[in-house]
Amino acid sequence: MQDLSGSGWQAAAWSAGAMTLIVALRYLLTSGAFAWATRIVRPGLYQGLEPQIRREIGWSLASAAIYGVPAGVVAWGWQQLGWTRIYTDFSAFPLWYLPLSVLLYLFAHDTWFYWTHRWMHRPWLFRRAHAVHHASRPPTAWTAMSFHPWEAVTGALVIPALIFFIPIHVAMLGLVLAIMTLMGITNHMGWELFPARLVHSRLGGWLITASHHQRHHENYQCNYGLYFRVWDRLCGTDRGLSSL
Ligand SMILES: [Zn+2]
Ligand SMILES: [Zn+2]
Repeated sequence: MQDLSGSGWQAAAWSAGAMTLIVALRYLLTSGAFAWATRIVRPGLYQGLEPQIRREIGWSLASAAIYGVPAGVVAWGWQQLGWTRIYTDFSAFPLWYLPLSVLLYLFAHDTWFYWTHRWMHRPWLFRRAHAVHHASRPPTAWTAMSFHPWEAVTGALVIPALIFFIPIHVAMLGLVLAIMTLMGITNHMGWELFPARLVHSRLGGWLITASHHQRHHENYQCNYGLYFRVWDRLCGTDRGLSSL
């Protein structure tokens, strides 16, 4: 084990800075790509929203630092000190655990998100933390990370905390992060990416896509989930889909 004095923490700080840059670039490139796709698929959908989009990008870049710092420190600890339950050898766990680990992460993240999100809709907290996200009316492909710093902190700690408890192969962790990025952006972009026959299928009835989250941005007190409709359905907060 490396000692944590001096150069150790300096390297952790470098890792935090590098991760912030990566998160910011990932946001700009993926949100940029879907904003560009929106211009082709739904020309004029974001017309007149330029001032809102500028604010969304500003809040999102601040969120990138809040997401990047814990992720960077944990990535450094994983590499240098053997922190976390991330594994790189495919034979370390049975192969069936690979998809199961992805589902466990998504479900744990979804559960955390549902309850913290509902909590942030209480008037006192809404005004102080969550109003920034709902200032996007309607949301756009740039809204995905548009959070007040308090809200960003609640989101930024989930995955870095989970990797200390739930074993996951590094490639599956990459998949979880890719799903998180894709759904965070497409759920806000104002049109449905997925085919109607999936969205309106039996399976679709348990999954969250743009049609579901759009209704949250229209009606506020419903559809709080992130990936799955399980908690919304169990708690009676599911109000169905918006017609996009
Ligand atoms: Zn939202
Ligand atoms: Zn909300």
